[in-house]
Amino acid sequence: MIRLRGVAKRYGPDVALWPTDLDVARGEVVALLGTSGGGKSTLLRMILGLVVPDAGTVTVDGTEVTAATADAVRRRAGYVVQGGGLFPHLTARDNAGLVARHLGWSAARTDARLAELADLTALAPGLLDRFPAELSGGQRQRAALLRALVLGPGLLLLDEPLGALDPITRDALQTDLGRLIRDLGATVVLVTHDLREAAVLADRVAVMDGGYVVQRGPLAEVAAAPATPFVEAFVEAQRYALP
Ligand code: ADP
Ligand code: MG
Repeated sequence: MIRLRGVAKRYGPDVALWPTDLDVARGEVVALLGTSGGGKSTLLRMILGLVVPDAGTVTVDGTEVTAATADAVRRRAGYVVQGGGLFPHLTARDNAGLVARHLGWSAARTDARLAELADLTALAPGLLDRFPAELSGGQRQRAALLRALVLGPGLLLLDEPLGALDPITRDALQTDLGRLIRDLGATVVLVTHDLREAAVLADRVAVMDGGYVVQRGPLAEVAAAPATPFVEAFVEAQRYALP
């Protein structure tokens, strides 16, 4: 479903991503793990054509992502931006329905879809008419998730979708998100620094450090045999979160 070949990115003299390959099979959930600045968001944004690689190719479902095709690829993907990225001047309903309305959906069809998704994401429907500032962190995360799901995408790109939540809300949302992903049968790339989230949601992980994927595989295998001191420290710091 996703194939990255030799993708690289630098900003001025600073390398955000060294040449990297990544494959994600249809229906697979892959977590990009690592500390801040490792290149996770850069890699994720490349899949959507939001960051243009200096070298290499990105292919999504057989289509090479270029300036000409990026729009079509984005339309078929649901994207949760790091930090949620809801427009503060729009209600949760208008945030979530924006793209559908832009594509010509009627208000009735959009509302019906949002009601269905509010149920799926366990967001009380009454909250849809609030502005982001009137929602709790967990409710905002659910609204951002709901916005990503409106078009029923087969591809989900989630950048720290459960970041900055208290442990109880995070735990509840993790479970809900796992169920949602299974129900959709979606292909998912998830950015997180939370090992428990990866353990609950991901089939495979890729650990990133300094713009490299330093190790990849099932989380249990990575945790059992860390390939670098960074991976070892990363795993040790969260050993308690592993099953
Ligand atoms: P992560 O998501 O793993 O925290 P990022 O992919 O956001 O990491 O960033 C990787 C590196 O690239 C960081 O050093 C970051 O400062 C740099 N970077 C990312 N985006 C930009 C940008 N638009 N301009 C300059 N530097 C950037
Ligand atoms: Mg990031």
